[in-house]
This record gives sequence, C-alpha cells and structure tokens, in this order.
Amino acid sequence: MAQIITIGEILVEIMAKNVGQRFHQSGEWVGPFPSGAPAIFIDQAARCGSDTMIVGAVGNDGFGKINIDRLHQNGVNISKIKVLPNATTGVAFVTYNDDGSRDFLFHIANAACGTIEASDIEETLFQDCKYFHIMGSAIFNEGIHQAIIKGIEWAQKKGSAITFDPNVRKEIITNESKRKNLVTILEQSQIILAGEDELYYLTGVEDEQEIIRHLLSQKAQMVLIKRGRRGASLYIENKKIHVEALKVEEVDPTGAGDCFAGTFVSCLNQGIAPVEALYLANIAGARAVTQKGPMEGNTSLAELKKIYQDKYS
Ligand code: ATP
Repeated sequence: MAQIITIGEILVEIMAKNVGQRFHQSGEWVGPFPSGAPAIFIDQAARCGSDTMIVGAVGNDGFGKINIDRLHQNGVNISKIKVLPNATTGVAFVTYNDDGSRDFLFHIANAACGTIEASDIEETLFQDCKYFHIMGSAIFNEGIHQAIIKGIEWAQKKGSAITFDPNVRKEIITNESKRKNLVTILEQSQIILAGEDELYYLTGVEDEQEIIRHLLSQKAQMVLIKRGRRGASLYIENKKIHVEALKVEEVDPTGAGDCFAGTFVSCLNQGIAPVEALYLANIAGARAVTQKGPMEGNTSLAELKKIYQDKYS
C-alpha cells in the first residue's frame, strides 16, 4: 500500500490571465492545470520519493485524465481514484487581485469529487501508513468529512501521524459547523502546517505563540507556519526555527503551501530531520511559485537537495 495517504478533491485549475480580471467579466483564461490541494500535496510527496496514495474521484473526461496521468507518472498510487462515467471532474477558477490575494470559484460539490464518501476508504489501506494527510479544503461536503473521520480512526489505530494543513478557503468554509470540523481535526493532529492567519481563524486566539504552545502541549509534535514570501517557521519542543524565503520571481502563488507540505512530510517519512525538512520544504515552496499552474513547479528531492547544498553548506 502506501506510507503517505491523503484524500480529497482532484480538480483542474483554470486561472485568469490578467491581475484584476473578474469572474463576472469575460476575459482570457489559462489552463487546465492538474490541481486540488490534496493532489498537489501527494504529487510532491511522491516526487520526493515516498510511497504515496490518494483517495479521490474524477469524471471519465480529459480533466480527469490530465490529473491521473500526472499523478501516475510521478509515482502516486492511483488505484483508489474513482473514474465516474456519470460525473465530470471538478474545476477551480482563480482570479488574482491587485493586493496579491486570490478569489476562487469552485465547481466541486456537484462534480465527481463531491461523491467521495466513507465507503471509499478502507482500513486495509492503512496497513503501511505512517502519515495520513488532511487538507482543510477537502471538508467541502459531509461525505468527505465522514471519510476523513474514518481515516483518522484507522490511522490512529495503526499509529500513523495525522498531518493537517487547514488550507482555509473562504469559498469552502462557509459556516460555523465546517469551521468546528476543522478545529476537531486540528486537535487530533501531530503535525500542523498552517498559513499565517489560519490558526487565528480556526481558534480565535490572536497570539501565535500562545496557540502554538497550547497545541504542542496537547497532541501536536510540530507546528509549521507558512509565511509566503517571508519564509516559514517550525515550532518543535520548546524551539522556534525560522527560515527566510528564497528570493525568486513569483509568477503564481497557488499550490506553494501544498508543495511545501508534501515536501516536509515526505522528507520526514524518509528519515530526514525536521529542521532540514523545513529548509527543503522552503526551497520547494519557492520553486512552486515560479511556475504558472499549481503543480507545475513541483520538484524532485534530488533537485531540492542540490539547491540546499549550494545555498547552505
Ligand atoms: P496555498 O494555500 O496557495 O498553497 P499557503 O498560504 O498555504 O499557500 P504560502 O505561505 O503561500 O502557503 O507558501 C508556502 C511556502 O512557500 C512559504 O512558507 C515559503 O516557504 C514558500 N513561498 C511562498 N511564496 C513565496 C515567494 N513569493 N517567494 C519565495 N518563497 C515562497
């Protein structure tokens, strides 16, 4: 089976060509690119050399094929991706605002990925699992939420670590009960990889140090904060290790966080120490933003190690 397992949306992404372009205006779009936060994560984890699997669903169409082909080519176990004859593959459209923020328009709830349910995940999948990775964006409907609850139960029974990226999308976390579902997962997780404001959004605790101290005193062993062009921090035991971002030209920020998480978890899975894994993930995140398309800037571990050696040793 696989040592790193994730579950959730497999999509194509179609992006606005120009900054400031709006959904309600006609314009030019670029894509489709293989996407979906769990898919980007698992693609990168595989490129870094781990045995990986994604549980998901696509339609029997070109948008599904572009994803399956990419994941398969990079070594992800695709045997638990359902290919549905009567549903179409999910789509995310993204626009870029002048202030660097992004807006998403998701076609997922009524797409193939919206059919994922608890019966799509089985205990036997977890026999070799060391890390079960959850993306907050996957909690867009109750079926996937129930599948994730089952996965957590089996991962815990097996002794696997729960790794969690809240990946909060305002377009998906539309009500209080979804926010609470994410908080419940946060509290179960051993490794948390959050964006800068996400812990505040989830818990209401403004002070980063305070909420991280609390999480580390409970089930969490490591908390990572992803800070975009300001790098990333790792909190472990009583220490905070911060790494500055590499100086690169940012072409497209979407997917950098998922790529960062895929690298970090895959490095840990291969016995790389957490601080080195942080540096490698920081390099991977920087590489990710230099390419248009959320998965296009994913990088092999050999390339990341080479940059690491050139830069830091
Ligand atoms: P997303 O949800 O779109 O995947 P995120 O908010 O989870 O993104 P970011 O903080 O944007 O994650 O990016 C993850 C990591 O990638 C950062 O912590 C940093 O290491 C690297 N990174 C991101 N943006 C840049 C940039 N402009 N220059 C260099 N490195 C970057």
